[in-house]
Amino acid sequence: MMSDPTTTPGESRTLRLAIIGFGLIGASLAASLKRVGHPVEIVAVVRSEADADEALTSGIADRAVVGAAAGVVGADVVLLAVPMLAMREILEAIAPALAANAIITDAGSVKGRFVEDVRAVFGEAPAEERLPFIVPGHPIAGREKSGMVSADAALFAGRRVLLTPLPETDEAAINTVAALWRATGAMVECLSPERHDRVLAATSHLPHVVAFALVDALKARQGADEIFRYAAGGFRDFTRIASSDPVMWRDICLTNGAAIVETLDELEASLSTLREAIRRGDGQTLEEIFQRAKAARDPYFE
Ligand code: NAD
Repeated sequence: MMSDPTTTPGESRTLRLAIIGFGLIGASLAASLKRVGHPVEIVAVVRSEADADEALTSGIADRAVVGAAAGVVGADVVLLAVPMLAMREILEAIAPALAANAIITDAGSVKGRFVEDVRAVFGEAPAEERLPFIVPGHPIAGREKSGMVSADAALFAGRRVLLTPLPETDEAAINTVAALWRATGAMVECLSPERHDRVLAATSHLPHVVAFALVDALKARQGADEIFRYAAGGFRDFTRIASSDPVMWRDICLTNGAAIVETLDELEASLSTLREAIRRGDGQTLEEIFQRAKAARDPYFE
């Protein structure tokens, strides 16, 4: 945390956290910190006066500011919680307005791209002096609802937050960001952006793509309304994530494309094995595959 010239030596003031993009993730972090009484001043950085009013009325922001550059003035920590393809433009916009040692972190779902954006904006002298204060991050928690209205003060409790620090990132900056997330009840781990993006391609991005594809394929069929009307729990569970925000998922697919395509290739191979077994009436192969999948999943989930 930066020292504050307005306080006497030894006295520290409340950390000021500017959250750019006060939607599901940004507002949920704010609500979580307020819920546990974490000593932090929250600035909701929004795009319109209407959003500013909503943030203040919700009681989870101490201040609301319209515009990214204006919103980060005096902030100790700046969190970007906007769709992946909006990150770079915002980094460019806030660069001149940041305090000297302000920490920049994010909640974006693809870490390789955020690191690229950071290097594009802060990669060269004198801007590279910012690199020790940059802590890319991603809470592995969310839901298919978007916006401030869906904020949930318990969203991160018991969930993981993955940080992918740069080689240049300062330990103290990592600790500051980790402490914020831990205050929400989350568990924090560090890993490389490449590993993050490969793991998330398989565990999150692929299932979302499959859910969107399944619903879209069925929608295209004649009698789709009947299919959806009579669909029971399994269909509802499996396709819940196809209600997720289309812009957010477009951006994730565009920024983690290579890793997602790799997992899609693996899935296609697995699907064609299943398809062949079903076509041949090969019960033994089907049962073996289903047993293998069940045994792989059961130890991790109820
Ligand atoms: P959201 O749609 O609920 O909120 C996004 C916010 O960003 C909105 O307030 C919107 O007004 C603002 N915004 C959008 N474009 C902007 C721009 N160009 N400039 C300034 N503000 C802009 O989305 P969310 O679910 O909170 O996702 C935010 C980030 O967190 C994304 O990068 C997403 O990949 C990541 N994430 C989402 C989830 C999830 O389950 N929803 C989980 C983990 C991480």
